[in-house]
Amino acid sequence: MTEKRIRVRFAPSPTGPLHIGGVRTALYNYLFAKKHGGDFLLRIEDTDQGRFVPGAEDYIIESLKWAGITPNEGIGFGEGPHAPYKQSERREIYKKYADQLVNEGKAYYAFDTPEELEKLRKELEESKASNTSYSYHVRGRMKNSLTLPLEEVQQRIASGSPYVVRIKMPENEIIKADDIIRGHIEVNTATLDDKVLFKSDGLPTYHLANIVDDYSMQITHVIRGEEWLPSLPLHVLLYRYLGWESVMPQFAHLPLLLKPDGKGKLSKRDGDRLGFPVFPMNWKDPFSGELSSGYREAGYTKDAFINILAFLGWNPGTEQELFTLDELAQAFSLDHVHKAGARFDFEKAKWFNHQYLVKLSDTEIAKAFKSILAEKGITASDDKIAVICGLVKDRVNFVKEIWDQASFFFVAPESYDPEAIKKRWKPETPALLNGAKEVIQAIEPFTAQNIHDVLHGYIEKNQLNMGGVMVPIRIALVGTTKGPDLQVIMELLGKDEVIRRIEKALSLIKLP
Ligand code: GLU
Repeated sequence: MTEKRIRVRFAPSPTGPLHIGGVRTALYNYLFAKKHGGDFLLRIEDTDQGRFVPGAEDYIIESLKWAGITPNEGIGFGEGPHAPYKQSERREIYKKYADQLVNEGKAYYAFDTPEELEKLRKELEESKASNTSYSYHVRGRMKNSLTLPLEEVQQRIASGSPYVVRIKMPENEIIKADDIIRGHIEVNTATLDDKVLFKSDGLPTYHLANIVDDYSMQITHVIRGEEWLPSLPLHVLLYRYLGWESVMPQFAHLPLLLKPDGKGKLSKRDGDRLGFPVFPMNWKDPFSGELSSGYREAGYTKDAFINILAFLGWNPGTEQELFTLDELAQAFSLDHVHKAGARFDFEKAKWFNHQYLVKLSDTEIAKAFKSILAEKGITASDDKIAVICGLVKDRVNFVKEIWDQASFFFVAPESYDPEAIKKRWKPETPALLNGAKEVIQAIEPFTAQNIHDVLHGYIEKNQLNMGGVMVPIRIALVGTTKGPDLQVIMELLGKDEVIRRIEKALSLIKLP
C-alpha cells in the first residue's frame, strides 16, 4: 500500500495582525510537511465577515514571506489544485453540506431572533444550568425545525426569514479523539452545545468551513493552537456525520505561548508592557491607528526569528540550539512538541539574534549599519564601516545597537563619562597627555601595530604608568573607558583626529 502524501495547512482568519503564536503554528506545519516530503498550504478562513480587518490578509502573507515559511500551495503563493484558497470565495461549496446534514437529521434550522437567544442565555445563567448554551436541554423549547411544523419551516425559509443551521448534538454520547501531542481525549456530548454551522448571512461558520475544506483539500494532519482543542469533539462528530471519518486527519494541538512569568497567555499587551514584539512585523491598526511593533523592524534576522519560534514548544532532544530552517525540517518531530505551555523568554530571543548577527560577515552587517549611518547623515567608506562593525559586533544583539558601541568612530565625544573622569583623570594627566601627543604626532605609518610599539616603547622608556597614559587617551577618543582595542581605534580615526580629540579633551576636562 502506498503511504498517503502528507498535506498540512495553515488556516488563519484575517482578523488582525498575525500573533507570533500563529507564525509558530505556520512554522510547525511547514517543518512537518518538509520533513515528510509533503505539502503545506495556506488557506484564508474569512467567513466571519464581522471580524474582517483590512490589510490583515496581506500582513499574513508578507509575514510568512519574510520568515521564509513558504507554502507550496495557497493564497498569495500561486494558488494550486484546490483553488480558491479563500473561504469567502468558496461559499457555494458549504451550503450543500449544511443542507445534507439537515436532511439527514444531523442538523436543524433555527429561527430564534437575537432577542430570544439573549433571553435564553439570561434564563440559563440565572438558573445556574450546567450547560448554559443552546443545547439538547433547550432545543425542544426554541424556534427551530425540530419544534415547528414542517410547513411553517418551509414557509419561513421560502419567505427569506433569517435562519441558521445548528448541529444536533447527541444527548449523551462519548466522543473519542486522539491527539498526537495530548493523547487520548474523551468528551461527553451532554457538555457540548448545538453549534451554529451555517449563518443567516449565507456563510458557514468556522467549524463547518474548516472541516469541509480540510476534507476537500485532502489534509492529513491538522496542526493548530491549543485554543482549538475544545472544538475537536465537534469536528470529530462533523467528520462522522458527513461520512468522512475514514479520511479524518490526525490532530496535533500545539501548546499555548505563555507570558515570560508563565502566568497566562502571551498577549499583545505583554509586548507593549514588557517592551518586546509579539508580532512578526510592524502593524498599524486600520481602525485605531495604533502601532504594534514587529520582530522584523526591531532588527531580528529572519533566521533568529525562526529559531526563537521553533523552540517555543519544541526541542530537538539534543543540546543543539542553533538551527537553519533546513536543519529544523530535518530535526522536527511532533513527538518532541511539549504539552505544557511555552514560556516566552525575551532574553533568550535576544541571545538568538546575537548568535545570528555574529555569524554574518562584517560586510553584510555593514550594509545594514550603513543605512543607520545614512539616517544620521554620516557617510564613510564601506571598508571602514565593515571593519568597525567587525570590531563591535560581539557586544551587540542588534545592528542598531552598533551605533551605541561605535558612534565615536564617526563623531567626536561631546561629553565625557563623569565616573571615568573621577577615577582615571588625575592632576598629572594633562602633562602625560601632552607628552603622548608629541609622540603620537611622530608615529609613521599610523597603523595599530606601529602605534602600539611606539607608545609602549615611549611609556616604558620613561617609566610611566601604562594605564595612566592609555586610559586618558581612551577617554579623550571614546568619551569613556570602554571600547575595542585602543590602537585599532587610533588607526581608524587617523592621526589628525586623534590629536584633535586629545586637545579637545584637554581643554574641556577640568579637574575640580
Ligand atoms: N481559522 C482558524 C484560526 O484562525 C483555524 C484553526 C484551525 O487551524 O483549524 O486559527
